[in-house]
Amino acid sequence: MSNRDEFSAKTKAAVALRANHHCSFRNCPQPTSGPSDESPEAVNMIGKAAHIHAAASGRGARRYLASMTRKQRTDISNAIWLCATHADLIDRDEVTYSADVLRAMKAEHEKKCGERLSYALSVGEPSPDLIAIGPDIVFVGKFLGVESEVWSFHLESFIEGDVHTLITFADRYDETTTNDRYVLVNELGDGRALRAKPSVTRETTGGYTVRCPVFPSAARIPAADIPKSWALSDSHDLMTNNGNWAMVSGVDALPQQVKTCLSHQIGESPLYRDFGTRFAEYYNLLAGSLWLDRYLKLEVIRQAAIPYIAPTNNQQYTPFLCIERVFGIKILADTPTKNWLPISVDLSVKGLGRWQYDLSVFIPLEPIRRWSFDELLAGPFVRG
Ligand SMILES: [Zn+2]
Repeated sequence: MSNRDEFSAKTKAAVALRANHHCSFRNCPQPTSGPSDESPEAVNMIGKAAHIHAAASGRGARRYLASMTRKQRTDISNAIWLCATHADLIDRDEVTYSADVLRAMKAEHEKKCGERLSYALSVGEPSPDLIAIGPDIVFVGKFLGVESEVWSFHLESFIEGDVHTLITFADRYDETTTNDRYVLVNELGDGRALRAKPSVTRETTGGYTVRCPVFPSAARIPAADIPKSWALSDSHDLMTNNGNWAMVSGVDALPQQVKTCLSHQIGESPLYRDFGTRFAEYYNLLAGSLWLDRYLKLEVIRQAAIPYIAPTNNQQYTPFLCIERVFGIKILADTPTKNWLPISVDLSVKGLGRWQYDLSVFIPLEPIRRWSFDELLAGPFVRG
């Protein structure tokens, strides 16, 4: 095993995204391709998540800090997105390119990227449509339409994963857990569970055509039929009413249904491991970047449109129960207050129509640990 503290694929993808796939070096005009490049011949195009403090000690290690933990060394805060030329340059001269200089460069570049994107949005430039297929593939593309329960897309560029990830997903489709078989389309505010593996065709004009056989739209219940549950107060606690635990149901239970689902991080429950969102993961990687809203919207769509299959009884339901479409979500504060991040959701609710609501989502600061099957079998609860 390598003793270098490398970044994870997710961290690399996030650092590239935050840099808008452009080298972060002052005034470097070099656009870069994704973290896993498709055309190795275009070497100067390859972007790199470079270490600010080196991944390992030893010869050639720059800005190495022995005091750092592995976790700190592989954290996104220790990465800067650079073209191949500048990644080499900063590793040749650690006097000029000190950690502080690199961090300032990164901050300035990310700020510029944010300003550029918000300007583009303010003048009505079409924002890139994000499409997700399963948990590891997010790309920029165009929804081409629906025919015989097949959703087709033009894939322009990958944001997370690459063509290899996509083909592997299709090849190993039968081994994929059912809860990971889905397609989510930001622009539609909707998604579908996959009925069969997607097909990928390379286009001579560039990009790919992806066809996803899908199931019909999942069943939703009217908001009035949301089952009775314990009422939660604004301070996220159980409430009492005349000494009894207060209960809510139907439309009154809708805000807490949405809040509870979004606050439940995937992997948090040992038994329902696939249940929940990736809000915390995305927040930790993309906070402060305009991409965060878009990524979180994909997760909201998933909770609204993709049926969750409970491992205990195989019952299927969409986690939000009654949300038919997601128009948008907006983050209302830069940082959570005591782990609660205020957001505004704009949804279409069965039996109620369009519904806009402000609520807070719980964001744990430490990443959620996912239990493995082995650990479950070994009985983590027994050990306490
Ligand atoms: Zn550069």
